Amino acid sequence: MKTVEIKTDHKMELVDITEEVRREVERSGVGEGLVNVYTRHTTASIVINEDEEGLLKDFLASLQRIVPDDLYNYLHNRIDNNASSHIRSLILSPGVCIPITAGGPWLGTWQSIFFLELDGPRRRSFAITILGE
Ligand code: ZN
Repeated sequence: MKTVEIKTDHKMELVDITEEVRREVERSGVGEGLVNVYTRHTTASIVINEDEEGLLKDFLASLQRIVPDDLYNYLHNRIDNNASSHIRSLILSPGVCIPITAGGPWLGTWQSIFFLELDGPRRRSFAITILGE
């Protein structure tokens, strides 16, 4: 497992980590297998989608509509003012698992891997774990 440290700059932000993952798979020498990308934060997620500026803004705006900042008087906000960040993370995922074939992650042409910050700015980390031969 390799741990990668990043620093985010905004409250909500998508950081493209595709090249970091691709490089790590190539460095491992694994031809056929799986790569897992995982974060152990409760207000962040790992997601895969298209790296298109407009779409990324649409995605963050949609998340804010689906889980409003403070529509329901969240109970968690009594102790830590970030319930909406936790809930946005909860409906996504802390990690993704991608097949490796021919020595690289089997991503579609329009697929990129993102670290999704939901309660920044903060120092964050994620792990890249590679299995295979
Ligand atoms: Zn909290």
